[in-house]
Amino acid sequence: MATNPKFVILLGPPAAGKGTQATRLSEHLQLPHVASGDLFRYNLKNQTELGRKAKAYMDQGVLVPDDITIAMVLDRLSQPDCTVGALLDGFPRTLAQAEALDKALAEKGLAINGVLNISVPDEELIERVTGRRLCRTCGEPYHIKFNPPKRAGICDKDGGELYQRDDDTEATVRNRLRVYWEQTSPLIGYYRDKGILVDIDGAQSIDAVTEALKAAVAGL
Ligand code: ADP
Ligand code: ADP
Repeated sequence: MATNPKFVILLGPPAAGKGTQATRLSEHLQLPHVASGDLFRYNLKNQTELGRKAKAYMDQGVLVPDDITIAMVLDRLSQPDCTVGALLDGFPRTLAQAEALDKALAEKGLAINGVLNISVPDEELIERVTGRRLCRTCGEPYHIKFNPPKRAGICDKDGGELYQRDDDTEATVRNRLRVYWEQTSPLIGYYRDKGILVDIDGAQSIDAVTEALKAAVAGL
């Protein structure tokens, strides 16, 4: 039996663990993982016009303009695999993006089902960012200390080479955190007022956070 499409948002500052949890939660919920940062990095790697436009913003750790970002994500959500819904990671990040998403869904008689707000103290985030490594092939995140791969430098899932993102430096992450507090954190109130926000303590082990998220989505 077909169920109604489900749209779930992972909200949280840079390196809160959204990507790590999204891999697990998208399997659990049977929803495609739609990550705006991954979409930008895919465009950068393939040297598309969109990638060229986004690069300077990403390098500085500031947000890519709303018009570019909204068009890219709504296009992704219009792909056939998203007829069941999506697990959104890193989008929306501004009120304008949140409103554009609500409007696009409302036009189809749909709405966001739940927003999972993952909180982690800033100092812990800086340590998570600087030790982060990603698989070049599938994008799976690792951490040299907190979540190392079985074989150093190699992805457990597909054997891909691990790399460090150019923007994962301490200087850039401080900027990204400032941007988060200024432009993204207002979304917490926006979704809380709609009654669809669940707070998750992200400063626990990866498995404990997964359990908290699974409990939070159980009723959706
Ligand atoms: P985001 O997608 O929110 O930017 P990631 O999932 O890429 O965050 O995680 C950032 C870094 O922190 C990665 O190196 C990841 O391995 C690590 N990490 C994720 N969750 C935890 C956790 N609960 N405890 C310790 N480290 C974590
Ligand atoms: P992290 O989870 O570590 O913050 P992401 O991979 O989500 O990193 O994002 C990397 C960069 O891509 C951001 O610093 C920003 O420049 C750009 N970006 C990603 N998502 C958005 C968005 N929703 N709006 C604007 N810019 C974005």
